Amino acid sequence: MLTRAECSAAQSRAAAMIKASGIVITAEEAEKVEVADFGLGRLEIEGAQILTLVSTGRISVKVVALFGGQTLPEHWHPPVGDDPGKEETVRVISGTLRFYIPSDDNMTEGAIPADKENVYTARHELIFKPGDQITLEPGTKHWFQAGEEGVVMYSFSSVARDVLDGFTDPEIKRVTEIKD
Ligand code: ZN
Repeated sequence: MLTRAECSAAQSRAAAMIKASGIVITAEEAEKVEVADFGLGRLEIEGAQILTLVSTGRISVKVVALFGGQTLPEHWHPPVGDDPGKEETVRVISGTLRFYIPSDDNMTEGAIPADKENVYTARHELIFKPGDQITLEPGTKHWFQAGEEGVVMYSFSSVARDVLDGFTDPEIKRVTEIKD
């Protein structure tokens, strides 16, 4: 749950970060930045600001801005009907991104959000700078975290059905609730 004031403050902060990264967005788009707290009510720790540039039945392009230290919780993109699930490429535009996938635990720079040890299972750390990117096969668990200065990235994917994504944390609700 977020208040309307928290939501609009996060929106303008994210829009400013996106513009500063060099990505051109319109005033209308700046007002459409989605603020996701994943139902956890602690946006600065676990959350994301997401601007969808295109989303059709076949492809999706989003810009994701994370504030310094903010974490997008561990999730995966499951198969839906005949579709094997969303294939996703994340490319960093500005800032540093700590990206986690399953494999050997080599975490040094990032930190699991407090009290969430058991719902962040992927511990193989990749450090991405502007121009770095990764392509994930459908079904691969992943989560990511901004470095201190925040991060702006693109997410290019096959069709996105965000509400059907799987999350390791059973507390998560993908649709943000806003209260006045
Ligand atoms: Zn993803």
